[in-house]
Amino acid sequence: MTFATSARDTALLGGEARAGGTDVQERRRSGRSSGPIVDISRLDELRGIAWQPDGSATLGALTAIETLWRDPVLAAAYPALAQTSGALATPQIRAVGTIGGNLAQHTRCWYYRNPAGSCYRSGGSSCPARDGDHHFHVVIDLGPCIAPHPSTLAVALLAYDASLELTQQGSVPIEAFLGDGTDPRRADTLRQGELIVAVNLPTPDREERAAYSRASSRRLADWALVECVARMTIRHGYIDTATLAVGGVAAVPLRLREVEAQLVSRPATAETCHQAAAVAARRCRPLPQTGYKVDLLVATLGDALTRCLPAVRA
Ligand SMILES: Cc1cc2nc3c(=O)[nH]c(=O)nc-3n(C[C@H](O)[C@H](O)[C@H](O)COP(=O)(O)OP(=O)(O)OC[C@H]3O[C@@H](n4cnc5c(N)ncnc54)[C@H](O)[C@@H]3O)c2cc1C
Repeated sequence: MTFATSARDTALLGGEARAGGTDVQERRRSGRSSGPIVDISRLDELRGIAWQPDGSATLGALTAIETLWRDPVLAAAYPALAQTSGALATPQIRAVGTIGGNLAQHTRCWYYRNPAGSCYRSGGSSCPARDGDHHFHVVIDLGPCIAPHPSTLAVALLAYDASLELTQQGSVPIEAFLGDGTDPRRADTLRQGELIVAVNLPTPDREERAAYSRASSRRLADWALVECVARMTIRHGYIDTATLAVGGVAAVPLRLREVEAQLVSRPATAETCHQAAAVAARRCRPLPQTGYKVDLLVATLGDALTRCLPAVRA
């Protein structure tokens, strides 16, 4: 293992970066990662939260997930990012895992994680999950690989319209970084040896409300089956703006613009939220074992949206 001395370290070419190591070490142990490792954890310039004069935040790629949850100023500005950071994995993983590693972690698909297997993602020419056990997989089928994207933070950053600072491509919107989910060989558009340096968030809207909701088979220490981030502004009792991003349902986290359109200019009520959430089901094309995720998607969206409404006082 070598240690990178700068983000543009050429030693990274051909090697795999190790930040917190919580994903890469597991793959090393199982044999799904081989070849040189370049430890980037000593690049202190990639760590921490910086505030810009316009009130927006820049998050260094090595910032620990725990910091995103614990920082009260960040939580006030981007509440759904704090909520997702506090809900994922375990306290131990959050203390070590970084925002860059979270975005670039590899898929959880058990066919990929089994080093004896072969699939598109591991360089093969098929998706064994399609005809195999795929009950944790997608319900919106975008391409040959049916594994859902594993990153919870990507869902929040998509909802916040974040952009990433990359060593080779420069500034890239998160949606472009994630791609459209149709390339079965990759879950992002990072180039060989390229690093995420930082995440840039837009100026926060102090008027908006935001909420994160997840459905998982265990409360702790598991990836979400379905997860949703909702942002909403309300004016005079009507929904003025709405932004929704979901994860666990497709090869990449998705914005649900058709649901957002159902919310804008409608009364800010639970009924509006649940009616709009139901529209998400129209996009779903479940696999034989993932039909249950349609109901989870509608329920999770409905929950996140209604939690954006002002509390009803008795
Ligand atoms: C029990 C359990 C439950 C979990 N639940 C969730 C969950 O609900 N949601 C969720 O999102 N995650 C979940 N995780 C995953 C966890 O969040 C990730 O393992 C962690 O975020 C990875 O960060 P890391 O810094 O340790 O990455 P590493 O293991 O160091 O790296 C992961 C990958 O990212 C690449 N990488 C790292 N940093 C950079 C960078 N700056 N630029 C480019 N590439 C980089 C590495 O080369 C590697 O390929 C869970 C993990 C466990 C063990």
